[in-house]
Parts: sequence; C-alpha cells; structure tokens
Amino acid sequence: MTRSATHSTTGRVQPRSYSDWPSALFLSSVLINTILISICTNPWFLAPLMLLQGLLLTGCQEAKHLCAHGTFIGNRNVSDAIGTACAALVGQNFFAFRYFHLAHHPVPCTEADPEGPLYARSWRTRWIWLLAPLEVPWVAWHLTRTGWSMVPRAKRARRNAAFVWWVVFALSIAVGLRHAPRTVAVAYLIPLALSAWFDFILTQAEHYGVAIAPASCRRPQGSIANDIALPFGLGWVLLHRSLHRTHHCEPALRWFEVARRIETDPTAAPIGYIAFVRRWLTDGPRLWLTDRGSRANANVPIRAQSGRRT
Ligand SMILES: [Zn+2]
Ligand SMILES: [Zn+2]
Repeated sequence: MTRSATHSTTGRVQPRSYSDWPSALFLSSVLINTILISICTNPWFLAPLMLLQGLLLTGCQEAKHLCAHGTFIGNRNVSDAIGTACAALVGQNFFAFRYFHLAHHPVPCTEADPEGPLYARSWRTRWIWLLAPLEVPWVAWHLTRTGWSMVPRAKRARRNAAFVWWVVFALSIAVGLRHAPRTVAVAYLIPLALSAWFDFILTQAEHYGVAIAPASCRRPQGSIANDIALPFGLGWVLLHRSLHRTHHCEPALRWFEVARRIETDPTAAPIGYIAFVRRWLTDGPRLWLTDRGSRANANVPIRAQSGRRT
C-alpha cells in the first residue's frame, strides 16, 4: 500500500523525520510583519503590509489545518501549540477542529460529512461573500460546537486547555482594543477581514459543484475536490491552502511538497482563482444538493474516534 493510500481515508498522518525550516520561515514572516505593522506610521507602507498580513493570516489558517494532520511541524506538542494559537486567531478550538476535519476526510461530500450542516444552511445569494468577515465567528461556533464532543476522552484535557487559551487570546484582544486600538485594528482586525474575503472563495472552491452522495458512497478523492491555482507565488504565502484536491489525495504531503506534486500529476487540472470567481458569480454559492438538485441530508457524526492515534 502506498503512503498516500495509507492515509487517504483518515487524513491523519504520522510525520516522518524532516526539516521544519519552511514552516519556521512562515511563522517568522508572520511575526516580522506583525512587528512592522505595529511600528509603521507611513500609510503608503502600512497598506501593503496590512494586505500581506491578511494573506499571512490565511496562511495561519492553513497552518492550523496542517497541524491537525500533524504535517506542519515534526514535534507533536509544538504542532498542537501552533495549531491552538492559529485556531484561536479565528475563534476556533484547535482540537474540536482537528476531529471535525478528520471526520470530513474519509467522507467528503456525503451525508456523513460534518461540513454538511454548514453548507446546508448557506444562503443562496452571492451577497454572502460580502458577509465573509461575519462568517468567521459563525463557522468557529459551528466547528467548535460540532467537533467538541468528537474529541477522544484522552485528548479532552488538551481541548479544554485550548479553550482557556482562546479566552486568554480574546481578553488580550479586548485589552488591546482599549489601550492600543489602532495597532489591534491594523495588525489583526482589518487583515482578518481581508483574509476572510479572500479565503471565502477558496473554501467555496474546495468541493464546489460536487453532488452530495449517500453516506455509504465512496468516490475517488481526486474526483470530488478542486485545486485552485493562485498567481504571483501567492500559494507559498498561503502554504498552498488552495490545492485541496491534491491534499485530499495525499494528506501526508508536506505543504512545500504539494506544488511539485501537482506538476507531476497528469490528472491534476487546477483552476485559476479569477476563473473560479467568474464561475462562482455565475453559478452561485456552494449548496448541499444531491445530483438531482434536491436538498441532501446533512448528518453529523457525534461519537468520539477514540480508537485512532492522535
Ligand atoms: Zn485536511
Ligand atoms: Zn475537503
């Protein structure tokens, strides 16, 4: 059995020994850019720094996702700590997200996919793109509420610790808004809104246009997910977050290996970001529909996956 086949049904991988420097470089970039924004007073420099911060925050969301799979950083405890911090940036509990997401991997676009209730409740209007920043806390609430009970008993202390960290982070933002509102706004809140608008399309694209199948249905992972090609090397800033099809096929890949893998995959057919935006504006938001166009069931697994190594 190949490495990819071994992991394609669980999405949870055991990292091999490898260099962590690309991930460390990304985290350093986030730190440096945050410091630069904090001390910058020239609006001509501040604007591009805030735009970059928005992209880096999108990359932080991908870092959280990679930490859930254990492929961002080799050390498990460091990986969980980074995942916890990155999840808190968008109001999520990392461990709830991890088990929510691992439940998605083997059953994407089926009635057993825990993402179902999110898309089943989606508004049909394209105007929801404008509301993307408001969707951040809504998605955080849904993910955390659904994934909370999916965390195995042995990991619940870490889940609860991540909740404490979430509270500490939220209080820090509140204190920051009181004493240094400009810094919090330009380094976090405004870039977070920019990130939400940009990332909204990427999350819509992940399984866009795929009909929802019965829970027992299994289709090739490569046939039910999309890769989005980003311009100007943006993929490296976003840790190749947009290559969701390749990720589903080989969740064990390190993020910096994904771009090379897609070049050697004859079945890959990435869609340009702008081309997908045009398609989305024509066809509308992703909904939870069967191949007949009727509303599909959206069930959520609630049992903790206690037998899986985490
Ligand atoms: Zn994943
Ligand atoms: Zn997916």
